[in-house]
Formats: sequence, C-alpha cells, structure tokens
Amino acid sequence: MTTIFTKIISGEIKSDVVYQDEQVTAFRDINPQAPVHILIVPNKEIPTVNDIEEEDEKLIGRLFTVAKKIAQKEGIAEDGYRILVNCNKHGGQEIFHLHMHLFGGRRLGPMIMRR
Ligand code: AMP
Repeated sequence: MTTIFTKIISGEIKSDVVYQDEQVTAFRDINPQAPVHILIVPNKEIPTVNDIEEEDEKLIGRLFTVAKKIAQKEGIAEDGYRILVNCNKHGGQEIFHLHMHLFGGRRLGPMIMRR
C-alpha cells in the first residue's frame, strides 16, 4: 500500500528532508512533538513492523545508524533522545509505511502515557 511517505521519498510531495540515500530517507515531522522530531523511513514500502522480513534486517539496522548520525548533526546526541516505532492500532500507527520517530531537544518524560 502506497502512502504519502512514498511521495515524500520520491520528491513528488515536498518535505523538510534532512537525509537521503538509496535505502533511507529522513524528514522533519509535520506536527513535531519535541524540538527535534524527525521521521526515518526505509525507501522500501514496508507497512508495519509485522511485515519486516529477515531479508530486511540490514535495512532496519541502517535506520539506526542514520538515526545516530542525524542525532549528532542536530546536536542532541550527548543529552540523549528517544527512538520510537508505532505498530498498528494499539501502537497508534497512522501512516502504514514503516518509520522510526527520532525525538529530542528536551527531557521527554515518561516512556508510555499513563492510563
Ligand atoms: P505514526 O503515528 O507513527 O504513524 O506517525 C505518523 C507521523 O507522520 C505523525 O507524527 C505525523 O505528524 C507525521 N506526518 C504525517 N504526514 C506528514 C507529512 N506530510 N510530512 C511529515 N510528517 C508527516
């Protein structure tokens, strides 16, 4: 299923892209939840974590190395940051193209919203 992220990756829809290579694209979230809020996305259309195959393991690892580089570039590496991946309804996933959220720039509070 193609989503808006595919159009951002191809450049068809404009976005604030901070990093791109042949495997991964990263761009600023349109509705930031922290001073730094960047989405790190595999160029390959993988809908959710449930759809990751063994052949994708290297690609998924690359999301982390790209996240690390972006954190350094954004100046948040030393103070720290949070990486989050939502999956399906209970995870609160809205866009069904796998993506990693990178949050930083302030203390981020408790890990999960209390009920
Ligand atoms: P998730 O709930 O994990 O699926 O997160 C989807 C994220 O995509 C949300 O944080 C949205 O604010 C963000 N988003 C949706 N459309 C765009 C867009 N056109 N450009 C940048 N971020 C977007």
